[in-house]
Amino acid sequence: MHIPSTYIGRFAPSPTGPVHFGTLLAAVGSYLQAKANSGDWLLRMEDVDTTRRVEGADTDILKTLEAFGFEWQGDVLYQSQRTELYQQALDSLLSQKLVFPCTCSRKQLAGLAVYPGTCRQRSMPEQNEHALRLCTEAVTIRFNDIIMGEQQQALASECGDFIIKRRDGLFAYQLAVVVDDALQGVTEIVRGADLLDSTARQIYLQQKLGYPTPQYAHLPLAVDAHGNKISKSEGASRVDIKDREKLLIRALDFLGQQPPSELAGSSLEDIWLWSLTHWDIGRVPQKSKMIV
Ligand code: GLU
Ligand code: ZN
Repeated sequence: MHIPSTYIGRFAPSPTGPVHFGTLLAAVGSYLQAKANSGDWLLRMEDVDTTRRVEGADTDILKTLEAFGFEWQGDVLYQSQRTELYQQALDSLLSQKLVFPCTCSRKQLAGLAVYPGTCRQRSMPEQNEHALRLCTEAVTIRFNDIIMGEQQQALASECGDFIIKRRDGLFAYQLAVVVDDALQGVTEIVRGADLLDSTARQIYLQQKLGYPTPQYAHLPLAVDAHGNKISKSEGASRVDIKDREKLLIRALDFLGQQPPSELAGSSLEDIWLWSLTHWDIGRVPQKSKMIV
């Protein structure tokens, strides 16, 4: 008998390339946090942006995760197959009159940190050459990140009306991720700190769509010598599964878990066993760290 978990976590890679150390950190952090809470760990392929999808990257990621010994519950969900659900969410926002078409060109918006609301009063044009933006009110979104602490963002002034459906007809990540997390019943989101800044938008969308807000925990990033996040789309090197024991220990170390040196010669299974019994999210540092 499968007793339903009250904790539901997830890992949501974009299939834009192979698993690199940064991806591994998000997988390890979200996995151990789910397991430590006797939770389910779901896997979702974030291929909503089909223009960035790399052929075969999804199976490559799944094979790598399997080789590392990750176990997920249920089928892997693909965003590219969920357009209807995103449309339903959009319809709900449209019926609340929270959405407007934006025809601003890239040139018009160049150099602006925040969308100035230019198209707010525009009615839906006949042709499809427009993006859809969500109207943001002058509210401050606050949340308490398990790792990063108290966060707040004044949505209208710091972020502004944001795109929920792109000019090319694709739903935006912000909308897709909120719909999926809610429909999958995700209770806690553990992911990289590059998304810390997106969280206020996602909470705002949750509120407008009547969804509960999950807990958030943003992991420190692995950065390169220039301080940039190592990223698979920019050709960061793939993790070599021949080194999986070493890489797993490195990930645990990066995440502040202080793996004992004796663990170095252990089997993958024993490293997981140690991790599952010792994981403490309270030890995860806030600061990004350079990796070489
Ligand atoms: N798909 C995103 C990425 O690979 C992660 C999104 C999320 O965890 O909310 O960076
Ligand atoms: Zn506009």
